[in-house]
Order: sequence, then structure tokens, then C-alpha cells
Amino acid sequence: MTQTKEYLASVMAEVEQRNPGEAVFHQAVQEVLSTLAPALEAHPEYIDAEIVRRIVEPERMVMFRVPWVDDNGKVQVNRGFRCQYNSAIGPYKGGIRLDPSVNASVIKFLGFEQIFKNALTSLPMGGGKGGSDFNPKGKSEGEIMRFCQSFMNELFRHIGPDTDVPAGDKGTGSREIGYMFGQYKKLTNEWTGVLTGKAIFSGGSLARTQATGYGLCYFVNEMLASKGTTFEGKTVVVSGSGNVAVYAAEKATTLGAKVVAMCDRGGFIYDAKGIDLDLVKEIKFVKRGNLSEYVEAHTDAKYAEGPHGIWTVKCDIALPCATENELNLEDAKELIKNGCMLIAEGANMPTTPDAIEAIKEAGLLYAPGKASNAGGVATSGLEMSQNSLRLSWSFDEVDEKLHGIMVNIYKAASETAEQYGKPGDLVLGANIAGFTKVANAMLWQGVC
Ligand code: NDP
Repeated sequence: MTQTKEYLASVMAEVEQRNPGEAVFHQAVQEVLSTLAPALEAHPEYIDAEIVRRIVEPERMVMFRVPWVDDNGKVQVNRGFRCQYNSAIGPYKGGIRLDPSVNASVIKFLGFEQIFKNALTSLPMGGGKGGSDFNPKGKSEGEIMRFCQSFMNELFRHIGPDTDVPAGDKGTGSREIGYMFGQYKKLTNEWTGVLTGKAIFSGGSLARTQATGYGLCYFVNEMLASKGTTFEGKTVVVSGSGNVAVYAAEKATTLGAKVVAMCDRGGFIYDAKGIDLDLVKEIKFVKRGNLSEYVEAHTDAKYAEGPHGIWTVKCDIALPCATENELNLEDAKELIKNGCMLIAEGANMPTTPDAIEAIKEAGLLYAPGKASNAGGVATSGLEMSQNSLRLSWSFDEVDEKLHGIMVNIYKAASETAEQYGKPGDLVLGANIAGFTKVANAMLWQGVC
């Protein structure tokens, strides 16, 4: 085992040396490599074929200029990225993030995570991710459209329904996907399922909007069942108030829990009666406003500046659904102190490594995002199937398939953890289950 760990440490050192200063990318690779030793011990052929050294290197990464003209006639320039990380098991698949924090490190971290997440869904999808440092906040409809069209003017030559199928992510919803899809169609003169997250009347899948949040709760349901309990009567805190957060809160509520706190970048709301989700949807999705407006309608609820305070709210279940590294060691200590029993990630890598350690040590149930938030990409996979078949399934059909996929991901992660002598360690279980699938495909395809 020592030799295998040294081998993995040498790969990690190479990643750091080859990608200097890319902290979140290093963090994502380290999180996976730190769990792979037992799989490599059981399969020395992975070391002989240098699967790990190959899997940490993206197959391709494009970076491009995105010029557009704002409403004042001034030329603006953003930077676009697409990381085509691994295509061993299918076309590259992963979202497009539009956020000022986007850089090569962020896109590589998300692309790397996506390889294992997509493998866990059991659908034929490789891993990829893209985005831009464009900030959609405060932009007019015209500016959003001109940016999306310019972004696609370059991206279109790198993607295709059998090559790379992007989707939404933070900052990219149905509106942005629509403008990108329209431009792709114009440039190629083709109507194909090249993007997922499309509007229902234009080839989209029912239940895709809800899928990541609903899927997260289906996964949590399995975790709770392993302890002989359910959502019924539990108090839940959900960070964020975007796509993942709102539908996670909605499903948790349907399953009998009470969601008492949510946040955005500005601050968090606490409503002891249970969050009024219709109002949150109205504020965030229709008015594109701030959560602080919530207390204008619910005067007995509380709003506090800064999102971090949300982790001080007492709860049974915490669902971080906003962004990476939003839950740190101090936050984890608060949750543990307040009797939280389960933390499951809706966002990608929202929990810092030292917080994960503390959570595991304290014996809480913990689910890593690459397993528990895989419902979004799984349903994107179902959207691709429907586009290829030229048919559409009902909401209930898609939801049922999503439910089945989440149950299977939980089973794969928990059974793999058990098989490798770490029962309950869903981080190790999810990493090894996803890695093994991709590694076997890479072995089979030779060195390429
Ligand atoms: P959205 O853009 O719809 O929502 C993001 C939410 O998080 C917003 O409420 C935003 O606040 C808040 N937020 C963003 N940054 C911060 C921050 N630094 N501190 C506190 N709150 C913050 O994104 P999604 O819901 O789509 O994505 C959320 C996470 O889930 C991301 O990590 C994404 O990669 C991941 N994910 C998304 C999937 C999907 O299907 N959409 C699939 C799998 C993972 P504000 O409104 O003020 O901007």
C-alpha cells in the first residue's frame, strides 16, 4: 500500500507542477487520488497502463476570446473555455458556467469531477465542462443574447451531438441555453440535441429543471433509509437559491421535511415556519432579485447579511447547493455542535477537505456531490436519448428514471465502499466506482 500511495503522490506532484497556482483544480484531483490506492492495489494493470497519469490530463482544453457589444455601444471582451476532459465512455458532457470567478482552474476542477459523476450515472457520457468569466448579473436581455451568440461563434466548432454536449450550470439557465442553441443552429444549419437543458417546446426534457435538486433528495432518502429513517419531520437547511437549491428544497418539503433557511451571495433567510418557496422562485427566477426581499412579505422571518451564517442555523440535514468551498471547517463544527446528522452536496465541491474530515470523524452521514448531485447530468443524458429517438417522455416517466438512477448511484457508492473495507465512506465508494468504469474503458481502448 505504501508504494501505491507514493505512486499516487508522485502523480499529484506532477499535476501541481504542470498546473501551477490552480488551487481548486489541485483540490479536486487530490480528493480523488487520496481514495484510489485500494483500487490500484486490486488492479495493478491500471498502474502498468498509467491510467491515473492519463486520467488527470484533459484530452483537450480550448480557451477563446468572446467579444460582444454592450448596450452603450462599448466593446466588451470575456474569456471562454471548454475542457474536453475524458471521452472513454461517451461524448464529453458537462455544463457551461457563467460567473466572474471562472478561470482555467475552475473549469478543470469541474471537468475532472464530471468524469466520475457521469460514469456513476451508468449512461454513456464522458466528462467535460466549459464557461466564461462573463457575469450575467445586471445585464440586459440584449447583452445576454449578444454574449451567448459570440460565445457560440467559437464553441460551435468544438461540439456536436456525438462529440461534446454542453448544458447549463451556475449562471446558465434555459434563457442562455436558448440563445446558444439558436446560434449553433444558425451556424451549422442543423437541429440536433447538441445542448441539454433546452426549453420543453424546443427538444428539452421534462423534469430536467428539477433533476439535480430532486435527485439530491432521492439520494439523501437512501442515506436516511440506511439508518432506518426518512425526511419526515426533519429540519433542513439548503444553501443557495438557484436551480439546484430551490428544487432540492421543494422535494425535501414534499417528502415531509421543513426547510428553514436558504441563502444567496448577499445573505441568508431564516423562516421558522418553513421557507415559502413560491416567493423564493418569484424573487430569484422571475425578478432576478435578492433574497433580502423575502422579509418584506414575511415580516416574522429573518434576513442576515453574508451567506456563511446559514451554517449556524440548527438543522438535522444540511444541503450545500450554492458553490465550491462554501462550507468550511468552522461551519462544519457549527453543524456538528448543533446536532446535524447528514450533509449531502448539491453543489460541486462545496465542502472544504478539512471540513469533510471533521464531518466524517464526528460520524455524520456525508455524500460527495459527484454522487449526490448527479441527477442533473443523468437527466441531461435522458434528454439526449429523447432527442436521438425523436420522442419525449412524460414528467413522471423521466422522474421515475431519475429516481432509479439515484438509487443505483447510492448502491454503487455504498457497495464499493463496503467491498474496499470502508463501509459508509461514500467518498471512497463513489470515486472508486466511477474511476473503475472509466479505467476499464481506457484499458480496453489502448493508449490513446
Ligand atoms: P444558480 O446560478 O442557479 O444558483 C447558484 C446559487 O448559489 C444562487 O442563489 C447564488 O446566489 C448562490 N451563490 C453563488 N455563489 C455564491 C457564494 N459565493 N456564496 C453564497 N451563495 C452563492 O446555479 P445552480 O443552482 O445551477 O448551481 C449551484 C451549484 O450546483 C454549482 O456548484 C453547480 O456547479 C452545481 N451543479 C449544478 C447542476 C445543475 O443542474 N444546475 C448540476 C450539478 C451540479 P445569487 O443568486 O446571489 O447569485
